[in-house]
Amino acid sequence: MEFFDIAETWDRKKIEETQLTRLRTTVERCMNAPFYAERLNKAGINASSLKSLDDLKRIPFTTKGDLRSQYPYGLVTVPHAELVRLHASSGTTGSPVAVHYTQEDLNAWADLMARCLHCAGIRKTDVFQNIAGYGLFTGGLGIHAGAERLGCLTIPSGTGNTARQIKFLQDFNVTAVHIIPSYAMYLAGKVEEAGLEPRELPVRKAVIGAEPHTEEIRKKIEYMLGVDAYNSYGLSEMNGPGVAFECTHKNGMHVWEDAYIVEIIDPDTLEHVPDGEVGELVLTTLTRRGMPILRYRTRDLTRIIPEPCPCGRVHCRIDRMMGRSDDMFIIKGCNVYPMQIEQVLMSYPEVEKNYLITLETVNDVDEIRVQVEINDQIFVEDMRALTALQKNMARQLSNEILVTPKIDLVQRNSLPVSEGKAVRVVDKRKKFKTN
Ligand code: ADP
Ligand code: ZN
Repeated sequence: MEFFDIAETWDRKKIEETQLTRLRTTVERCMNAPFYAERLNKAGINASSLKSLDDLKRIPFTTKGDLRSQYPYGLVTVPHAELVRLHASSGTTGSPVAVHYTQEDLNAWADLMARCLHCAGIRKTDVFQNIAGYGLFTGGLGIHAGAERLGCLTIPSGTGNTARQIKFLQDFNVTAVHIIPSYAMYLAGKVEEAGLEPRELPVRKAVIGAEPHTEEIRKKIEYMLGVDAYNSYGLSEMNGPGVAFECTHKNGMHVWEDAYIVEIIDPDTLEHVPDGEVGELVLTTLTRRGMPILRYRTRDLTRIIPEPCPCGRVHCRIDRMMGRSDDMFIIKGCNVYPMQIEQVLMSYPEVEKNYLITLETVNDVDEIRVQVEINDQIFVEDMRALTALQKNMARQLSNEILVTPKIDLVQRNSLPVSEGKAVRVVDKRKKFKTN
């Protein structure tokens, strides 16, 4: 068996010893951020009081709300001159979440990412096309750095311009790609439309992630494109991609436990659930310098797969994500909270109270449709006024959520009103439901 990093060969004892040492260092670093210093002091925790990994339980959780409250620089633990990059979450409602990296952080992230690609069987001889947004989204620069670190010829093709994506796949003899699952399905359709057979493209391996998808979707992508597809999980708060990745056995994602501590908790009681049971994934960074994070509640629901992996790596495996414990949904790789949509809609005086968001799959592509009730006065105006309003809303929403929705303007009182809690989102997508 070939490994990219010696840490992949560690046994449980070595992993746990390293985790404890690195947890202490992390707690020490966190003391440089007043937010953490106050919390840790209050809980009576400092680096030397952590006697075993069990003491992790004494450390308070960090939530997305905490990260928002510390925007823009609150959780930085090094002098600002040491920071070289930041990424930020897609949401712009309220404060976004900013994550800061030192050069060492970027190097360590690239190493982890290269380890992931290598463990899925990608090698420096592969030509790697990264079909992901370059910018604040971590799937662009993050995966890119890993592929380069591994030594692949790496094409930063970004998103969109499907015809050019296909041309590059052919012209450069691309053998491995990173692509979000919904776009992979779309791309396969476009290849067919162009009169080509998608399976005849040179691509042999696809890294798919950033959004929830089922085993059926993986199989479909594998079949349509003639590839092996590997699930890739990450989140900006924990660097981005590179947190957990499937090895060639494709049976759940190894989390690199020399870089992260994994916990699965019951989102209501906040207690650990037994291995194998579904709960909320909680992660602690172990090697980050610029902005370490303790016990981060990801809101992602998964379980630890207790059986050992035939690949020999003992780094624990988590199952594909089974949903979220909040109301965020992911469409075309973008994280969207229904409240972001509501805020935009409610800024229009023409809008009545009711609206409905429907997620649907049209020709294998996920779409978002927003039906919104508008007042009678506007409704009787001419078509031009209505079309202009519709276009304007689509643009404003697209600025906010980074996906362009279809807008249906409907008459007052025409949308269903639920008796209990309003149902704002109906998920009719073929794949996984995320809420
Ligand atoms: P990214 O830039 O990787 O999309 P974000 O921080 O914007 O990172 O989004 C992270 C969220 O995306 C995760 O918390 C999770 O809900 C979702 N996600 C990422 N990868 C996967 C995956 N492989 N399967 C399911 N959901 C995923
Ligand atoms: Zn494995």
